[in-house]
Amino acid sequence: MLLLFVLFVVVYQWCFFKEEAIVDISLSEFKEAVEQEKVKSPITTQGRDITGQYKNGTKFKSFNEADSPLNDFLRKHNVLQIVKKEEGPSVLSSLLYSFLPIIILIVVFIFFIKRAQGQAGQAMSFGKAKTYEPQNKDKITFADVAGIDEAKEELQEIVDFLRHPKKLSRLGGKVPKGVLLMGAPGTGKTLLARAVAGEADARFYSIAGSEFVEMFVGVGASRVRDLFKTARQNIPCVLFIDEIDAVGRHRGAGYGGGNDEREQTLNQILSEMDGFAHDDAIIIIAATNRPDVLDPALLRPGRFDRQVVVAMPDIKGREAILKVHARGKIISKDVDFSKIARGTAGSSGADLENLCNEAALVAAKRDKKAIQQDDFEYAREKILMGKEKPMVISEEERRVIAVHESGHALLHLKCTRTNKLHKVSIIPRGIGALGVTLSLPEEDRFLMSRSQAREEVFVYLGGRAAEDVILGEITSGASNDLERATEFIKNMVGKWGMDEIIGLASFSSSGASPFLGKSLALHEGMSQGMQYKIEKRIKELLDQYYEKVKEIISDSKDKLNTLIDTLLERETLNAEEVIAILEG
Ligand code: ADP
Ligand code: ZN
Repeated sequence: MLLLFVLFVVVYQWCFFKEEAIVDISLSEFKEAVEQEKVKSPITTQGRDITGQYKNGTKFKSFNEADSPLNDFLRKHNVLQIVKKEEGPSVLSSLLYSFLPIIILIVVFIFFIKRAQGQAGQAMSFGKAKTYEPQNKDKITFADVAGIDEAKEELQEIVDFLRHPKKLSRLGGKVPKGVLLMGAPGTGKTLLARAVAGEADARFYSIAGSEFVEMFVGVGASRVRDLFKTARQNIPCVLFIDEIDAVGRHRGAGYGGGNDEREQTLNQILSEMDGFAHDDAIIIIAATNRPDVLDPALLRPGRFDRQVVVAMPDIKGREAILKVHARGKIISKDVDFSKIARGTAGSSGADLENLCNEAALVAAKRDKKAIQQDDFEYAREKILMGKEKPMVISEEERRVIAVHESGHALLHLKCTRTNKLHKVSIIPRGIGALGVTLSLPEEDRFLMSRSQAREEVFVYLGGRAAEDVILGEITSGASNDLERATEFIKNMVGKWGMDEIIGLASFSSSGASPFLGKSLALHEGMSQGMQYKIEKRIKELLDQYYEKVKEIISDSKDKLNTLIDTLLERETLNAEEVIAILEG
């Protein structure tokens, strides 16, 4: 707006002060020009001012200082004279001219004030009831939710209740008013809530906990009131509160004041939930990924007393979810969903949906008629480790990379307890990964045995050991491997109690789960003597394992060389090809 305003002022000034090329001449010059017949007829006089135009188009202006009459002189030279009445600048125009900018400024100012008021008004509208619209445009049912069957089963009861609320209460059955869905982001909590509404033909209202937290104290509570009012007038319905931890945190926690708003909102939710009868066909479903921070009052009977864990999908679940999202896409017959599911451990439903869309994009880019297995694999790798991108790498470095990756691959095949080798590649993929040796687990694993852990370390060390044995030179390419190998041994010795010398003891600091981004901190609360012992042991083991790996590699040097050469030539080898080479 300000820019527009400035622009306007500039244009305005320019219009009114448009300077034309006007030459100022003296009276004698003017007379001379008339005598030489250079002046166009007619000229204009206004008081003593004379304005006119030369025959070549240039305008001029002069001033009759002597106030001598020019009539006879002009008539003699055949120049007509228009006499304009002498007048000051018009009152209106001068007024307008001097005040217009100020008027515009005031208008702009008023505009801004109005807008600001509008915004504040929105926040201040707690007297007015906000209306909520049901949000079930496209109907979602349990068929759209896959892989979380336990959660679905538990919610089936809720669906039955919403369909026939009187039936249950007549028999004296008690139906929960609230269900708390707990699970990591993207596991399908929102989807489940929608599906419950869809299955029961109920209306679906959704709001995020953070929407309750507003600038003004009291707004949140009034929103809750409006929401429940809307719900009561539209039964049967499902009321979904996402991220309930935004309002439902432990009351009294936090610093100083400023929690009033949240507490009021929470209290309002609780009292509204207490307020409606057991046979009202309303179900409140709340979702959170932080059940640990919730106020215990929320979990009391009669409130969110039904808690359903929405787990990350397992291998079967992932396959089912992939199939759900494959519906409506053209999938080639060669696609093996169970294999894709095997390679996507740790992915949530939302991740898998993303994978399906990515695969469709890849297939479209490659001008295919249907999405094929390799599209899925490409998409997975792309999501997993950044896009395959061309990078210029010297022959010498390519060889080092091939040696390194071959080392990993060889160890993978020798160590049968680790994940199955999937493929080896020396095509660089984005951030830092020059080559890659991919493996797939046979099934989801939840336990790690000692021999398995040891073999895991062997595989990590395989790259560096191959460089050492084959090239007689080591490179920095193994830094990430070393880091992970060390981390593994650290866990074996200091956390899992797997080492004979240190024995049964766990030194991981409490609560610091490595899966939450905090790595095992050995030094916390540990004596220096013990810390020294553990670190010494870790180093010993690492060296011991490295020697063992070097031995394995030296034993298969010839086969490894063949593998390296083939890899240099083909760039990517799958597991079957690697096995064929290593078996001669
Ligand atoms: P949350 O609410 O738990 O963060 P959402 O319900 O918003 O997760 O899930 C995001 C999307 O991921 C959904 O719209 C759905 O397409 C997909 N999705 C997640 N879980 C599943 C599942 N179990 N089955 C099918 N699709 C799923
Ligand atoms: Zn490596």
